[in-house]
Amino acid sequence: MTNKERYRKVLVTGAGGFIGHHLVKVLKKKGFWVRGADIKRPDFEPTPADEFLLGDLRVFQNCERAVKEIDDAYGLAADMGGIGYITAFHANLARNNVLINSNMLEAAHKEGVSRYLYSSSACVYPSFRQNQEENVALREEDALPADPEKGYGWEKLFSEQLATYYFEDHGLDVRIVRFHNVYGPLTTYEGGREKAPAAICRKVAEADDGAAIEVWGDGNQTRSFCYIDDCTDGVLRIMDSDYRRPLNLGTEELVSVNDLVDLTCNVGGKRLRKVYKPGRPQGVRGRNSDNALLRRTIGWEPKIPLRAGLEATYEWVWQELDRQGRARPPGPLAVKAA
Ligand code: NAD
Repeated sequence: MTNKERYRKVLVTGAGGFIGHHLVKVLKKKGFWVRGADIKRPDFEPTPADEFLLGDLRVFQNCERAVKEIDDAYGLAADMGGIGYITAFHANLARNNVLINSNMLEAAHKEGVSRYLYSSSACVYPSFRQNQEENVALREEDALPADPEKGYGWEKLFSEQLATYYFEDHGLDVRIVRFHNVYGPLTTYEGGREKAPAAICRKVAEADDGAAIEVWGDGNQTRSFCYIDDCTDGVLRIMDSDYRRPLNLGTEELVSVNDLVDLTCNVGGKRLRKVYKPGRPQGVRGRNSDNALLRRTIGWEPKIPLRAGLEATYEWVWQELDRQGRARPPGPLAVKAA
């Protein structure tokens, strides 16, 4: 660790959330001084941040407090959730996120923050490129012409542009990362904001062997899933790079939701019967990350296989539910030992 690393002051917004909390942990291990900012504290364990600012980042004065004397800022705060959540609240979600991101960029510019990372999403990609299940790898340039996910995706695409204008007009040194379905332990697994991997882990953990499991849509929709350790590693590498345009951060391991359910059942040591719910939101038909540009620019890409990541995630979700008396046997450790 260099002195520069040890004394560099870093801000993580969204530090009470899934990716932000993991990122704070990694940055602390690397020796940075870290300020977290969020409207809430992390749900499952205390933050190791040196300072934690509890505040609403839709309010400009809170953004000014957050960036005070900060060198590098990671902007991870957002009103977001899984497909059920982001398709239900277009106006509120888009407004909240426009306010957070426009305030944070302005505050970072005024304070003279040297580098600012904006967390975007694969939801910026046009729906007309995602209406089939195969051959759906998305290159960064495919985002235009625009036809993103309603609400959440439009806001992400706009805020990417806004971040770019802050570089062009004010010299703010921005990084723009498009996450593709990040999952792992310490993530929301119920309540409406949970995403597919955690929701499926919860359903499998709570089910008795041979019971039914609910699957949204027909289960043939495809995605790739990125394990949290790859995500935080990638974020730090992209921040350290000199590339200011949007970059995908995801794996190229394309699976259907049916595959994801089967894999999770296998990890959990259970055989479950799928019951399809055609009316429930399922998003685009197929979406994968194309990592060619990521490989060219930073010489790295996510590498943790889905099975390994799911094992760690399932184990954590099962133990969480077990503590509440809700998990059904076999436990993940018994499955591994068998
Ligand atoms: P998360 O919901 O766990 O974390 C977001 C955090 O932002 C939450 O803790 C929330 O309290 C905070 N927040 C929301 N409104 C706020 C406000 N007004 N003021 C202060 N804090 C506020 O989500 P995450 O999965 O950690 O996502 C982090 C970033 O990555 C977000 O920008 C998200 O859009 C993006 N992203 C995530 C994924 C994924 O699969 N997890 C995929 C694509 C993009």
